[in-house]
Amino acid sequence: MRLVLLRQDLSAKTHSVKSQKLPCVAWSGVSKRIPVLLFCAEAIVSKDVAIRSVGEKYNLAFKIVRTESRLVRGILVNHGFHEVHPNSNDFNLMWTGSHLKPYLLRSLQDFQKVNHFPRSFELTRKDRLYKNIQRMQQTHGFQNFHIVPQTFVLPAEYQEFSSSFSKDKGAWIIKPVASSRGRGIYLVSSPSQIPLDENILVSRYISNPLLIDGFKFDVRLYVLVTSYDPLLIYLYEEGLARFATVKYDHATANIKNQFMHLTNYSVNKKSSDYVSCDDPEVEDYGNKWSMSAMLRYLRQEGKDTTLLMGQIEDLIVKALLSAEIHIATACKMFVPHRCNCFELYGFDVLIDSNLKPWLLEVNLSPSLACDAPLDLKIKASMISDMFSLVGKFPFPTGSESQSTMPKMKRIVQISFDYILKA
Ligand code: ADP
Repeated sequence: MRLVLLRQDLSAKTHSVKSQKLPCVAWSGVSKRIPVLLFCAEAIVSKDVAIRSVGEKYNLAFKIVRTESRLVRGILVNHGFHEVHPNSNDFNLMWTGSHLKPYLLRSLQDFQKVNHFPRSFELTRKDRLYKNIQRMQQTHGFQNFHIVPQTFVLPAEYQEFSSSFSKDKGAWIIKPVASSRGRGIYLVSSPSQIPLDENILVSRYISNPLLIDGFKFDVRLYVLVTSYDPLLIYLYEEGLARFATVKYDHATANIKNQFMHLTNYSVNKKSSDYVSCDDPEVEDYGNKWSMSAMLRYLRQEGKDTTLLMGQIEDLIVKALLSAEIHIATACKMFVPHRCNCFELYGFDVLIDSNLKPWLLEVNLSPSLACDAPLDLKIKASMISDMFSLVGKFPFPTGSESQSTMPKMKRIVQISFDYILKA
């Protein structure tokens, strides 16, 4: 297995002459005749008529199904896409909150895209993620895939858990197998505190988190996959550091304090100590920082953040590799065209005091809520870059048949790093 880190091909940028006629359009293909839509995050606030004309010219359509995303809708509408009914088949892009049934995937045409791969739950369900990584540990060496805390699926693995616990007593963290936002999560210090009649995960608690000003935090990274065969992964350059609201103290007496041990925004926003920041330009204030502000802080503290980010990229690639076989196989079975699916995952990473990153989970449909101005600043750029990368196919209408319509191709934006597994 060879892992290569490549920088992006910026060729689309050098062919921007024609794009001066139409804003947000670059031209690709051998004779530079294929229009490629470049999304710009500013459109979300500026509502520029010229930008809107692009989607209108190509009659681009989208639908949003079983989810609500003001950000996605706002960006698409402001680029001139029109929204069609969730039951309509006349769409270029379908943004859905859940997986598509196989028969719906099979009916996709080559210019249509959906924001999920089949069987992504192999990554995004906590129990499946752990099992897939455990399989990689067994086949490729434990140390090479030591990227997640040791975990047991209960009740099936209760015996194994008990024997691990008796060897090394310490706190463990209990999680429902398929939940999110900190729901149902709590710490235990003894197996007797664990219910035996529920399907749960029990993970070794990382009791030495890296602290900033005494607070525990984790990092949300945005990872885009445009293909599983070959595996093409993009990591967005910016992310979010989410802080707990109570200073960290690992004395057992505090074990029940969620505001100290859990870093979820949905948990900590309920705390009266939660501090939000109203200025998008201030990225290192309150309980949510930009990832780059967090990295700057660590650099000033003398930490090797280049090494840290390298390890985080490594962890992301390895997690995706562990699920690759399942998802690539499902794509072969259900997905009719190579470019039909893409997916944005939210990777949650905890860094320990030795600067080792641990993968906590991979989120399906990471939150695109913009409660704070910093959220909008980061997420609007990230979603715009994602749509630019994914590329758009014009929707055929009227006399223009699909074969005569130019097809959009994938392009790469500057702010994504490009990680390729070859
Ligand atoms: P959810 O999907 O509900 O957000 P997570 O696995 O992300 O579940 O866990 C929620 C929070 O609990 C994390 O953001 C982190 O702060 C804390 N946490 C989870 N697992 C561990 C662990 N093994 N060690 C230390 N803290 C953890």
